[in-house]
Amino acid sequence: MSLTAYASNRENPLTVAKFGGTSVADYQAMLRCANIVKSDPANKLVVVSASAGVTNHLVRLSQENVGQEERQQIIAAISQIQFNIRRQLPEEAGLDETLQALIAELELLVGQQADDYKAQTADAILSFGEQFSSLLFTRVLQSLGVAAGCFDVRRVMKTNSLYGKAVVDLAGLRHNCRELLAPELTDRVIVTQGFIGSDSLGHATTLGRGGSDYSAALLAEALDGDNLAIWTDVVGIFTTDPRITDQARAIKEISFGEAAEMATFGAKILHPATLIPAMRRNIPVFVGSSKEPEKGGTLIKQQVESSPTYRSIALRKEQTLVTVKSPAMLHASGFLAKVFTILTKHELSVDLITTSEISVALTFDNPTGTTQALLTSTVVAELEQLCEVSVEHGLSLVAVIGNGLHAAKGLGSNIFDKINDFNIRMICHGASDNNLCFLVPEEDANTVVEQLHNTLF
Ligand code: ADP
Ligand code: ASP
Ligand code: MG
Repeated sequence: MSLTAYASNRENPLTVAKFGGTSVADYQAMLRCANIVKSDPANKLVVVSASAGVTNHLVRLSQENVGQEERQQIIAAISQIQFNIRRQLPEEAGLDETLQALIAELELLVGQQADDYKAQTADAILSFGEQFSSLLFTRVLQSLGVAAGCFDVRRVMKTNSLYGKAVVDLAGLRHNCRELLAPELTDRVIVTQGFIGSDSLGHATTLGRGGSDYSAALLAEALDGDNLAIWTDVVGIFTTDPRITDQARAIKEISFGEAAEMATFGAKILHPATLIPAMRRNIPVFVGSSKEPEKGGTLIKQQVESSPTYRSIALRKEQTLVTVKSPAMLHASGFLAKVFTILTKHELSVDLITTSEISVALTFDNPTGTTQALLTSTVVAELEQLCEVSVEHGLSLVAVIGNGLHAAKGLGSNIFDKINDFNIRMICHGASDNNLCFLVPEEDANTVVEQLHNTLF
């Protein structure tokens, strides 16, 4: 069967349903999700994350300095999560052996990694969480009488070999989905893995932490899907992270642009790249809670009825501020180009930037994280050849997201009057009329967001 069977305005719509880590954390959670899948025949493709906590365990296993005892403990913990789910499923010949074989394969890789660390092996290790959860979720669906099969996404999600943050070959994905995945969707629900892919050599790759949302969006795009549903642990997108303040409210409808700004500026609810494929093909995205599906959720789409000045506040922690200062910059040209040449050479991507006469301040998102090129002493030393450099850690980026902010009267006082007890750094406004961002010390970040939320909403 070809993709044309899923062409738009069809009687036979296709929803890609993605379930995050907490939604597939254990058997009961998986059962709730399986009932959601079963309740709507449009749910033909299911994308799952690893069960909650498993990827964190795998990250630890993939690191260089894990001792033998810790390795054993982590593998036992991962194994327990899988077998706790397995035990509640109906008996099935060979399933225990399949799980055991996967665990043995994981143990072997972890042993190799301990002897000789490789980024490639780290990604292979990380890929196990989604392999386990997709295998088990398929069985949960089958136990409800749903015709379901498990599909290895690495057959279609071809990427480059940038382990930890692999880039997907979009044309290849589309072609592979047409050839290999679409034919599978005709008569049964297919369960597949988020977050992982494979490179041209067939090695497993990963798309970055939280990447299952992005995988699901890419698959929806490649299959010309009608809807993308992101099932998580909150009843939609809120005016700010509901963990920061109980005053946060769910948003019924939000535009692609606003939701993309929220994701970019750290609202963990969506991986930052999720909306890019959805926007390219105008695929509406629903975000809801797998625990309370009856409560509805947020619909993200192109056109929305209201575009309020203040829509939400996002927070991104672990930001680094680098200030480069050189009197030579005064009336000189080419200084910034030199700074950026160094950063580009080290694959460091600058987030925010402000300039004054002789200095420039730049921020980097989590440059000490494992998935990004590092702001190493080498980079700092190279910058120091050009100018004075200061590096500050422990900052958080607060972003106020809304509409027409460049034309909003009283914006400055509305935002800053209520948080004038805090040390606000590096205010950035003007490049986009959808956001205003600034830095605050990490320890004040939640209070700043809470107070700002009380004022603006
Ligand atoms: P999943 O495992 O389903 O992918 P995540 O933990 O990645 O779920 O994302 C859901 C979490 O995102 C919520 O529990 C919530 O704490 C957080 N979050 C951050 N910002 C927002 C927001 N604006 N609205 C809703 N949730 C948010
Ligand atoms: N399991 C991966 C992670 O924890 C991907 C995801 O959950 O989206 O980062
Ligand atoms: Mg997530």
